[in-house]
Amino acid sequence: MTKEQKLRERIAEIGQSLYRRGLSPGSSGNISARLEDGWLLTPTNSCLGELDPASLSKLDWNGNLLAGSKPSKEYFLHLAMYQKRPASGAIVHLHSSFAAAVSCLDGLDPTSCMPPITPYFVMRVGKLPLIPYFRPGDKALADEIAKHAGKHAAVLLANHGPVVSGNDLDSAMYAVEELEETSKLMLLLHGQKIRTLSKSQIQELCEAFGASWG
Ligand SMILES: [Zn+2]
Repeated sequence: MTKEQKLRERIAEIGQSLYRRGLSPGSSGNISARLEDGWLLTPTNSCLGELDPASLSKLDWNGNLLAGSKPSKEYFLHLAMYQKRPASGAIVHLHSSFAAAVSCLDGLDPTSCMPPITPYFVMRVGKLPLIPYFRPGDKALADEIAKHAGKHAAVLLANHGPVVSGNDLDSAMYAVEELEETSKLMLLLHGQKIRTLSKSQIQELCEAFGASWG
């Protein structure tokens, strides 16, 4: 099996796993992976629980379709992230309930919209910028993502959901799950006094595990 075939299979497996656990209801959410000669993305209006590895969309770095089904309308979110993050091998974007709920809260800090409440959030997700709301399909959203993607592996789109990159498909999936769990904690704790990790505790994680909170 070629590297591309393995990635195609893994995208379908991860899609099914996310769908089964209710993280990508309906035809929401999309998954992509970097190839040597372009990148793979889940097709438009596809259910992540029923992906066909052979018909995934294969695109070039200008967003043109090279092979497979018509790509997700949100392809440009992925493209903007990859262009600023050459070491990222995969991206997962979801409309998962808890992260989407947090993305609708008023008064979030746009530079860091989720507090560092657990070490795993710091290590797997990092400081999370909030990207302002744009209507679906508005390419201006890509410019906003590009402003932050160089420094941040994940962003939260206001009134929409998270876009999370990783070195590979599995690390992107784990990071988006961590973000969803942290969103749940944040909502459980909403209105209560929260003890976040201190600067020195965050520093310690950065030194011990190569995390970054910049
Ligand atoms: Zn979306």
